Amino acid sequence: MAAKVHEMSQHRRQIPAKLFQEYLENVAQAHEPQASEIRHSELLRSYAELQFRLNGNARCAICNATVRHKVPITVERPDGRVDHYECLCTRCFEGEKAQSVRIIQQLGEARVEQEPKPPVLKATDFRKKKHVSKTRAS
Ligand SMILES: [Zn+2]
Repeated sequence: MAAKVHEMSQHRRQIPAKLFQEYLENVAQAHEPQASEIRHSELLRSYAELQFRLNGNARCAICNATVRHKVPITVERPDGRVDHYECLCTRCFEGEKAQSVRIIQQLGEARVEQEPKPPVLKATDFRKKKHVSKTRAS
């Protein structure tokens, strides 16, 4: 009895094997329990690089600049509104981040959350002490 050997003919664009290898390594590392934000960030970048090799450049949803890495962005506003962008250039991303309470880049399983710098606490913020009047028990 002869076992049939299936030969799959694969039609895909030429992508450097090194890029795939890097991506797969990033996937594996991002799945480790102690996977850090940096790991997810690397996975996001390598995934976006693959997308770029397959589909080419994207456009910034705000200023229409050419963007190499197309990463969907979710912006959470202070008033509770949530905006979604297909992708943003670095400049618009920083602008949106500054006006957000949280900005999320998500591509597949890779998810990176960022928050703008926390506001500086004012030293003049003081509270009046309440005077508690004691009532004598007679
Ligand atoms: Zn832009």
